[in-house]
Amino acid sequence: MRWPGRENDVARILVIEDNAANMKLALFLLDKAGHEVLQATDAEEGIRLARERRPQLILMDVQLPGMDGLAAARLLKRDPATRDIKVVALTAFAMTGDRERIVAAGCDGYIAKPIRYQEFLKVVGEMAAG
Ligand code: MN
Repeated sequence: MRWPGRENDVARILVIEDNAANMKLALFLLDKAGHEVLQATDAEEGIRLARERRPQLILMDVQLPGMDGLAAARLLKRDPATRDIKVVALTAFAMTGDRERIVAAGCDGYIAKPIRYQEFLKVVGEMAAG
């Protein structure tokens, strides 16, 4: 199998996801594509890592315990220290209203769950390259 994204520059990517199976799959795919991966299981830890480690891209689960992913995206996009980091929402709800909420929160894109390998790596490759 060819892994889309491997030809692109290696990026530092932060995954904020509380579901262990989704996290494991994202880590597997990103690692295969050659990226450096950071991980957090809640928004607070994710925001701390974003500030400290300056990833190029954040994959943000929308439904998180405590602060949700869209509130976290708004905080990151409001902060001059982190607003240049691209944020892609991971959402099980990609209906029209949710897309609008995701965009309104300042996210640069979204990936619908369940994760499909090709779509996931294509979006990550585009975001990590730009
Ligand atoms: Mn979740």
